Amino acid sequence: MRYSQMFIPTVKETPADAEIPSHQLMIRAGLIRKVASGTYTYLPLGFRCLNKVINIIRQEMEAAGAQEILMPAIQPIELWQQTGRDADYGPTMCRFQDRHNRVNVLAPTAEEVVTAIAAGELKSYKQLPMNLYQISPKFRDEFRPRFGVLRSREFMMKDAYSFHADEQSLQQTYQKMYDTYCRIFKRCGLEYVIVEAETGEMGGSASHQFSIPCENGEDIIVHTEDNSYAANLEKAAVDPLPQQPKPQDIGQPEDVHTPGTGTIEAVCDFLKTKPAQMIKTLIYKVEDQIVLALVRGDHDLNAEKFTVALDRQHNELADEKTIEQFTGAAVGFAGPIGLLEKASKVIIDQAVAVMPVAVSGANKTDYHTANVVPGRDFPLSGANIQIADIRNAVEGDTYKGKKLLFKRGIEVGQVFKLGTKYSSKLGAKVLDENGSETLCTMGCYGIGVNRIIASAVELRNDKFGIIWPISIAPFEVIITALNQEDAEVVKTAADIYEKLRQKGIDVLLDDRELRPGPKFKDADLIGIPIRITVGKKALADGNIELKLRSESKSRHIPVTDALSQTLELVESLYAD
Ligand code: ATP
Ligand code: MG
Repeated sequence: MRYSQMFIPTVKETPADAEIPSHQLMIRAGLIRKVASGTYTYLPLGFRCLNKVINIIRQEMEAAGAQEILMPAIQPIELWQQTGRDADYGPTMCRFQDRHNRVNVLAPTAEEVVTAIAAGELKSYKQLPMNLYQISPKFRDEFRPRFGVLRSREFMMKDAYSFHADEQSLQQTYQKMYDTYCRIFKRCGLEYVIVEAETGEMGGSASHQFSIPCENGEDIIVHTEDNSYAANLEKAAVDPLPQQPKPQDIGQPEDVHTPGTGTIEAVCDFLKTKPAQMIKTLIYKVEDQIVLALVRGDHDLNAEKFTVALDRQHNELADEKTIEQFTGAAVGFAGPIGLLEKASKVIIDQAVAVMPVAVSGANKTDYHTANVVPGRDFPLSGANIQIADIRNAVEGDTYKGKKLLFKRGIEVGQVFKLGTKYSSKLGAKVLDENGSETLCTMGCYGIGVNRIIASAVELRNDKFGIIWPISIAPFEVIITALNQEDAEVVKTAADIYEKLRQKGIDVLLDDRELRPGPKFKDADLIGIPIRITVGKKALADGNIELKLRSESKSRHIPVTDALSQTLELVESLYAD
């Protein structure tokens, strides 16, 4: 392509609403433009990158034996009601009512649709295993769209779904997808880590996430120093804390007047105590039943672990009215004494169970209770009571005796063993070898295409702009022709351009009538890995200049070697 004929609206200034480098640079390099909160147009350069990533994914999926299909973005809500996931996704799922008053969903993912297809079409175990995938827009009305295309409301996802006659076959495909993902991310030039993950809204028995370690990532990766264990924060298990010695002569529980202190911080200030000495009593609803979670004041409840402890039942925080009715007090003053017995279920975090003495809410507006001894003043066991790990890991925690470390990451992909969660609800069965009906066992595998691009930019940039990995760069080579008024320069540049194109290289010829400064600036900003500079001065000696975007030095080479040396360089960058 010729730069003069391409739409590449680069921007000098950093956009005010872009907080992180990838978002800023994708706008500045003319890759994307914001349409509304969480929705973006991919301009020609950005769309080229997107297609490069899509091609890599497609090649690897085909090589792994998956078959490409395309499912509709518009899906009937009834399918989601059948699996109960309309509630799980809640307001994140975009819904609309059509002119016939039917409720539709804009696909946030496609387990329901693909399983319904399998239910209608698959008959025999002989048709299995089958792995179907698509690369298509997905829609999620994210609570907080941010960081450009990293968390947007509409994005491109590669989603694959595999069907199996048994668990062993699922394991084989799961492993194949896992290995395929490793190849995809490596080919995209990304350094990734693989962490154990919770299955979240997907459900199922096992899951791994592929994450790009990076300061601005929204996910927290928890790992041991030797990396023998790595999980995301939602999943990361912690060792139980040791039982703390009980001080002697703890008095009886005592209600203390703590007016206007509905938060942990406010109570601590008021009572001169520390969050680690407090118990938080959180009130949830599972259908119409009240479920309580007790965690230490300085700990955060881990929603995923809590859901696992509740056998994956859908749960949500109770509303203000329910809390007031249940505790008899305003929100912020719930406490365990006398309350646990009334709940249909109580999950006590293991760190609460070993507290020697604590302060909690008093179930009385503006009152807290001091001298609360777990096990003495409220039960730690019973038909409705269970102790479990339901909090986030924190600095200082260990797992299997090893210290846990924390780093941030961007989730670019996730693989799940789903088991029969969807096939059982939607009736996807086949006849097995003995002629009896058996439910399909399933796996699913997602990749965020946009996040691959944004993570690459986030990790690979300098103060001048993007430094693309060659495999997903919009062009592999840019030829910067200086002195457009010089016929020799124009001819030489055009000649190299044509030859590279004939060799199948993606090359951009900067033939704009501009001074060298702005041309170099744009080349650096859009980050094309190899730059060939054709200028009057060097050309007088029969030379051109060859430079890598990732290095500051350049070298002069004879025009006659331009083609061979550039091809060599392209090859070496792919081999890196
Ligand atoms: P997150 O936890 O970041 O919200 P998720 O776990 O809900 O993501 P999945 O359902 O696993 O996402 O979707 C598969 C992939 O789609 C993710 O690994 C991620 O790369 C991508 N993805 C998910 N949500 C978004 C989004 N809002 N914007 C861009 N990409 C997304
Ligand atoms: Mg995920």
